[in-house]
Amino acid sequence: MDSRLDRLASMGIDVWRSRLKPPFGPQDATMPESPDLDIPVPPLNMDIIADWQELEAAVKDCCRCPLHETRTQTVFGVGDRTAQWMFIGEAPGEQEDLKGEPFVGRAGQLLDEMIKAIGLAREEVYIANVLKCRPPNNRDPAPVEATACESYLLSQVALVKPAIIVAVGRIAAQHLLKTTVAIGKLRGIVHDYRSIPLVVTYHPAYLLRSQTEKRRAWDDLKLARRTVRGQR
Ligand code: SF4
Repeated sequence: MDSRLDRLASMGIDVWRSRLKPPFGPQDATMPESPDLDIPVPPLNMDIIADWQELEAAVKDCCRCPLHETRTQTVFGVGDRTAQWMFIGEAPGEQEDLKGEPFVGRAGQLLDEMIKAIGLAREEVYIANVLKCRPPNNRDPAPVEATACESYLLSQVALVKPAIIVAVGRIAAQHLLKTTVAIGKLRGIVHDYRSIPLVVTYHPAYLLRSQTEKRRAWDDLKLARRTVRGQR
């Protein structure tokens, strides 16, 4: 059993364990199953690439799904590759596709502010998306695209080894947790993503439209910060 998650649970922090097996490290057959797992989990035949250069090259030339035909460029991920905090969004938008960097533009600036609020700079966390290529017209990622791209994200998580993952927005949260549960019900809980604590928060693009939810997003970040610190 993972000691960090056990410690959090023993301190009264709600930990929701999933049936997702870690792609790296020992698997725990005794891990209780999460009730939120309602999307079939793809078989764990993922090719984890344990080298940053190799991984970047694989993503850059990837043609695994039809999105390679419409992208300007792939959007790999940015930040500290040894960061404690990893933020994961859904997919590049128009500006990200043009710039080749996740979370730029107004939503990106708000994410930067959220990161700053927890005492960190953008360069001190790692930021990635579920998809590395932009879906046309910013539509939601199709399941087949998310599945095709999944091993790249798993490789990034395995390389960064974050102490906490923040799932940014409904799509990222539902994809990572393999669930269709509404984001409102996924918030406020520490989930177990392959033995790494995961907290769900709103997407900054949504927060730009719904200013009143900013307080809830701050609550999410405080929960994540307490989780990293191992505090209540
Ligand atoms: S979205 Fe992912 S799987 Fe699809 S082409 Fe881009 S990098 Fe490859």
